[in-house]
Amino acid sequence: MAVPVSGSYRGFLTAPAGASQRLDLRIDVDKRIDEGSVLQRVSGDVFSIDKVVAPGQPPKETEVYLESWIMEHPKVVANGNATTITGEIRFWNAVHPKTTATIRIPSTPADAPAAVTIEKQSSPPATYSCPPAGKFFRALHLEVDVCKSVNKEPILPTYGTHSLKERPPDLTNRTLTIERAYGEAGIEMVIRGDKRDIIDDSAASFSSWSDAELHNAMEAHFSQYQGAWPKWEIWGLLAGEYDNSNVGGVMFDYAASLGGPGKAPERQGFAVFRKHFWFDSLVPNPKTDAELTAARKFLWCYTHESGHAFNLLHSWDKNRPKSLSWMNYDWKYASKPEEYWKAFRFRFDDEELTHIRHGNRPSVIMGGDPWSSGGHAEAPPGSEHLRMPPGAMTSATGDVPIDIEVSSQPYFEFLEPVSIELRARNLLSIPINVSGTLHPEFGNVTVYVRRPDGRIVEYMPISCKLAEDNIVELSPAGAKDSSDRHSRSIFLSYGRYGFYFDEPGQYFVRAVYHGPGDTLIPSNVHRLRVGHPKSVEADRLAQDYFSYETGAALYLGGSPSQYLEDGMNTLLEVVDRLKGSLAAAKCAARIAYGVGRTFHELDEKNIVRRKRGGDTKEALQLAELALKVFQAQKKPRHFNIPVERIARAKAELLLRSGNVTQARSEMTKLAGYLHKHGVKPSVTKKIEADAAKIKAPKAKTARRSRSAPSRKKR
Ligand SMILES: [Zn+2]
Repeated sequence: MAVPVSGSYRGFLTAPAGASQRLDLRIDVDKRIDEGSVLQRVSGDVFSIDKVVAPGQPPKETEVYLESWIMEHPKVVANGNATTITGEIRFWNAVHPKTTATIRIPSTPADAPAAVTIEKQSSPPATYSCPPAGKFFRALHLEVDVCKSVNKEPILPTYGTHSLKERPPDLTNRTLTIERAYGEAGIEMVIRGDKRDIIDDSAASFSSWSDAELHNAMEAHFSQYQGAWPKWEIWGLLAGEYDNSNVGGVMFDYAASLGGPGKAPERQGFAVFRKHFWFDSLVPNPKTDAELTAARKFLWCYTHESGHAFNLLHSWDKNRPKSLSWMNYDWKYASKPEEYWKAFRFRFDDEELTHIRHGNRPSVIMGGDPWSSGGHAEAPPGSEHLRMPPGAMTSATGDVPIDIEVSSQPYFEFLEPVSIELRARNLLSIPINVSGTLHPEFGNVTVYVRRPDGRIVEYMPISCKLAEDNIVELSPAGAKDSSDRHSRSIFLSYGRYGFYFDEPGQYFVRAVYHGPGDTLIPSNVHRLRVGHPKSVEADRLAQDYFSYETGAALYLGGSPSQYLEDGMNTLLEVVDRLKGSLAAAKCAARIAYGVGRTFHELDEKNIVRRKRGGDTKEALQLAELALKVFQAQKKPRHFNIPVERIARAKAELLLRSGNVTQARSEMTKLAGYLHKHGVKPSVTKKIEADAAKIKAPKAKTARRSRSAPSRKKR
């Protein structure tokens, strides 16, 4: 009989040369774990490894998680020399061409690497050499801290499966701990025994824990809390009593954005409440039925709650109320809890095991942010639209050379055009180059938007600009004049597939920067909210607003083209009817420059003719209107960028109509305003310098292109 090959393998790309990639491979085709079921699956996680070498320093390595795949129907052929597994693989995210994998594992020597060949239509095969990495599929740490009031043995659960008579008659007799329970699931769980904090809960005024207090305790006591997430770490707390004393255990750690107490990331911690009546009879060496029942419940509680950290839902939430799983409740399974214990085999069900072992990594690993919430391997039928575009799940660990940050005002009114600011900041002690254009139109940034319904879409710009990259050199980290950073504003409301923020609700935005070579750097996940229409008027305008003509007019920054006339009229109507609102101000700001600009279009004979001279007066009115609204906001700092943009546009319009002095004073006013609102001196000085340079235009002014606004550093 062939030697079992199941377990994990980990190795690097061997061909094609040039790219540096790691593959974490899991083979699950035969039995190597006691009591473990064989799922007949193979799965893999792909990482890109980037090295940055600064002179005189050890090389900095960034590991960027790229994507995961699964092979659902492996064909396994074993002969004396080797086991060969072949099959089609499916990527969790995105549409990939048909892809097959061939994995050959030599029988000897025992540590011979698996040779993996991935073949995609039309691309050259990729090969990896992956030495074995143990019989488990994934490995993680559990840290358990204890409250002083309940710091007595047992802290961790132990239970002999034959201790109580309610059990399946053929159940294997074994002693289960939480490590063993997960071990049978194929997960190597190591308890961080050296990290056990005793949390003092003896204050007289304190009696029970709230979710927020638990989260707070986790931030203070979880030794692994700092640093980059996601990672394979869980925090458990053995506590006294929960606010609701009927609760014996909780997975308390979900992000504030989902109604929980904490910030993203989430799924890092759980608590078991020792003062719950379930554990009244819990003792170190249980003998009576009551003591054994408590020990069994204790084990179940730990295993169940930590199961949530892998993003497992309850059995009934998954429409499997009869599932004989750790994730079921004995009192929910049947009218009598004994029915559950008579049939329960102390295991997760196979669907859950498939998720834990082979699920899409971002939806299994702890500390996935709200971005990946709700992503389960076992997606219900009809949820195909929930599949993600490529790159949406990219995450990085290690020393990232550049920090990429997405920000914006936190709240947008309904119909208010949405833009974000993207900032690249050098984290190294040497200068580093970044793409100056930092924009999806130039292909060096991809922006993903998670819509209120959970669907993640890639923002697709209308135009794709093929241009040599304009490179900006960022000074070493911490430069006093802020020259270690570079930022751009990106308009996201409208793109190739229509409007991206057309429904009220919560949105998440993440960008991935594609630097020179293979560099991929994901940004933070930025949350913003789009409000509900505040008036019947706004709701009515939505009908015309969310149209091609209006979207295109907004995208182009205002256009006198006859084809977009309806769109421009709608935008002017928004400006007029929702006067004083941010929606009106942003629309006005967006189109002001375009309204004032000269426009050329083709006549009947297809000859480019000068069409109109641009309506400077109307443009100035729009600019003025927008400026007033931005400056009247309660949190003016969020509007510094739009203020600067529109004030600069206004100055240029003034200059164009011959008002040199006014143009100059507009810029001086702008510098003063921004200085008052916390903008760095380097920026305000630049504006003052620009003001001083303003001169009467020569006969032909160089036209400022909308697609290349002045560079900003802040
Ligand atoms: Zn639960």
